[in-house]
Amino acid sequence: MSADPFAARFPLPPNATIGILGGGQLGRMSALAAAELGYRCHIYAPSDNEPGMLVSAARTVADYEDEQALAAFAAAVDAVTFEFENVPARTLEILAPLVPCRPGRKALAVCQDRLQEKAFFESAGVPVAPWAAVHSEEELRAAVARIGLPAVLKTTRLGYDGRGQAVLRSEADIAPAWERLSPRPLILEAFVPFTRELSAICARGADGATAVYDAVENQHRHHILDLSFAPARVPAAVAESARAHAARVAAELELVGVLAVEFFLLPDGTLLGNEIAPRPHNSGHWTQDACQSSQFHQHIRAVAGLPLGSTERHSDAVMRNLVGPEGMARLPFLYSAESVSVHLYGKTAAREGRKMGHANGLFPKDSLSQTAETALLSKL
Ligand code: AMP
Repeated sequence: MSADPFAARFPLPPNATIGILGGGQLGRMSALAAAELGYRCHIYAPSDNEPGMLVSAARTVADYEDEQALAAFAAAVDAVTFEFENVPARTLEILAPLVPCRPGRKALAVCQDRLQEKAFFESAGVPVAPWAAVHSEEELRAAVARIGLPAVLKTTRLGYDGRGQAVLRSEADIAPAWERLSPRPLILEAFVPFTRELSAICARGADGATAVYDAVENQHRHHILDLSFAPARVPAAVAESARAHAARVAAELELVGVLAVEFFLLPDGTLLGNEIAPRPHNSGHWTQDACQSSQFHQHIRAVAGLPLGSTERHSDAVMRNLVGPEGMARLPFLYSAESVSVHLYGKTAAREGRKMGHANGLFPKDSLSQTAETALLSKL
């Protein structure tokens, strides 16, 4: 193992500065957690007045490949982290020799590319749905013949919240889907007849210690996360398997920070890996109010080289995303609801489909699975 040239910087002392690439809500909530732990944050993003900048000590507004701006940023901070995984490879090439970057290149590279991610899941012993790389319409037809229909065609890079995807239900869908998504590299996946979607969040420190939260169950609306139920209402063995997979993925990626692994649950109890996000994740927002140490605190602890905190769940929780004008219209109700905390991201324009904030409703520990969903949701 080669010596880490930055080892002497850690643990970061109080008042050290953590640089965050990306200005969105995940960076904002990481910066708020960092402030509680006595650190300052410096946000780097291509546009001004981003949610993270509004709560941070310093900002740089520059392109992700601006060498001069990145060098000045590296000199101004003690460590760098990311609030999104689609950082250009060039950005890391510039930053890595100058400043410790957590997580490192391996985690970012694997999670930027669905083909690498699928191959990685398999190498880590996490089952996935049948898949094939697709570079031409002929390859797509061959992949459909092998995998069958229905299937989902996805761009391998830069897809999120269902963007860059097409469901193929019949042969007639092949040509239009190819037309719409090519010439980008694509992946065809078997359509998974899942009963539930689960995720598990794991924090990992530079010393290899891991801390995993309870697995949660996620429901989407218009391809955007709508609700997370913590803990997932599934048999204990399924939840444990999700947590074990997440811990293994974090270890194999040599992650320093927090990651989320999303799974499909099949009717027979099998979990299939879908995606890995090497950062705090929307399905972990419930930890802000239901756990002693939130996913954002864990992320900052890992980046700063502090010991990880407790992932213990002291309450059950349901998280509801507040999306667009419809989500914002719930605010008066949510402000007066009992045991509900509202978290807003400081975005001014409530456009359709835009995540504006979320609400966490708390319930007595171990009560979620015994309570009707309508009763749970009536509160938030
Ligand atoms: P993704 O961007 O891969 O997380 O996909 C977004 C959402 O689309 C998932 O949360 C699922 O609800 C759905 N989805 C994605 N891939 C598949 C698949 N292979 N089979 C069934 N549903 C899928």
